[in-house]
Amino acid sequence: MRCVKCHSLEDKVIDSRLSKDGFSIRRRRECLRCGHRFTTYEQVERRDVLVVKRDGTREPFKREKLLGGLIKACEKRPVSLQTLENVVEEIVNDLAAGNLREIPTRIIGPKVMAQLQRIDPVAFVRYASVYRQFQDVGEFSEVIESLENSPMANLLQPDLFESAT
Ligand SMILES: [Zn+2]
Repeated sequence: MRCVKCHSLEDKVIDSRLSKDGFSIRRRRECLRCGHRFTTYEQVERRDVLVVKRDGTREPFKREKLLGGLIKACEKRPVSLQTLENVVEEIVNDLAAGNLREIPTRIIGPKVMAQLQRIDPVAFVRYASVYRQFQDVGEFSEVIESLENSPMANLLQPDLFESAT
């Protein structure tokens, strides 16, 4: 596997782990030239799973795209990449259990939001605002309010948030 830093093809696997569902293997690799460490996933190809978007168009379900959205939502937030990878894993397993060939985004979005709500309130609001494409400010503040009224509210205080992690 080509190193993303120096583009060398020489690497060694330093850790391999099978996912809970047994459908993917996560490998930690180390570049033999520059020492950079990176992660690869080997998974059973599920060519037939499509995501149905709001406008009715379809595209292949991609784990990396889901992770990318999460990383964006958690930018500059105290959330580790490992946490986000676990979220993706959980959602992928969840979707695989449903055994659907076509998955509407309206099913995936709420799953992601439920996880983010648990992990980081700011990331949750960011994700929700993109996912729901809020029509007006009123709708957006409703989400903020529901957050403030939920048990999540205390997490909005940074000190408590740090002690909770
Ligand atoms: Zn390298």
